[in-house]
Amino acid sequence: MIVANNVHKAFGQLQVLQGIDLQVREQEVVVIIGPSGSGKSTFLRCLNLLEEPTSGVITIDGMCVTDKTSDINRIRQNVGMVFQRFNLFPHKTALENITLSPLKVKGISLQEANAIAKDLLAKVGLSDKETSYPDQLSGGQQQRVAIARALAMKPKVMLFDEPTSALDPEMVGEVLTVMKDLAREGMTMVVVTHEMGFAREVGDRVLFIDEGRVVEEGTPEQIFGNPKNERTRAFLNKIL
Ligand code: ADP
Ligand code: MG
Repeated sequence: MIVANNVHKAFGQLQVLQGIDLQVREQEVVVIIGPSGSGKSTFLRCLNLLEEPTSGVITIDGMCVTDKTSDINRIRQNVGMVFQRFNLFPHKTALENITLSPLKVKGISLQEANAIAKDLLAKVGLSDKETSYPDQLSGGQQQRVAIARALAMKPKVMLFDEPTSALDPEMVGEVLTVMKDLAREGMTMVVVTHEMGFAREVGDRVLFIDEGRVVEEGTPEQIFGNPKNERTRAFLNKIL
């Protein structure tokens, strides 16, 4: 579903990604961990061309993201992204936040868009919040709306960039539960998170990234239980 080959990204002189390789099978859940500033967000942003890699090749479901002639809007529709900050439109209701893109991009009727949005709100447990504005919702609820909004485009892949790290601790669980449900339904996911419980329970594979390189990868059991690389060990000692 995702193939990234030798992805490099520099910001001026700063080499942020130094040859990342990643292959994600359909329905696989890959968890990325690593220190702050190691390039995790930059890599996710390269996967849907929020950043343009300096070099390397990325394909998503057979479509080449890094080919200049590709229809980038079509590729982006296939790749849902959820950020640390929820980025909901403040002057739109929960329902309107979800219907906005499908209405604009997919050319469906308002009735159809509303029906899809209501289903998604039910799925994330927020059927009673259709008409609420973001500032009337808790952080956890806003993040669940953000997930529903991404799903409304019917993406083939979901990317999560530390989706729970801006939340108060008591709200982390409700967001992780929604993500677990998604994984169970077979969504292909790449998740940057330091939630080890989630990684162990849901992750098929864990990648440890440091200084723009994949330093170690393996099953959650291997990476958390028996990390081979010194840097992986040092990092895990700090966060666990
Ligand atoms: P992580 O998500 O692992 O914390 P990031 O991918 O956000 O790391 O950042 C990796 C490095 O790239 C950092 O040094 C950061 O300052 C730098 N960086 C990220 N985005 C930009 C940008 N748009 N311009 C310049 N430097 C950037
Ligand atoms: Mg980041």
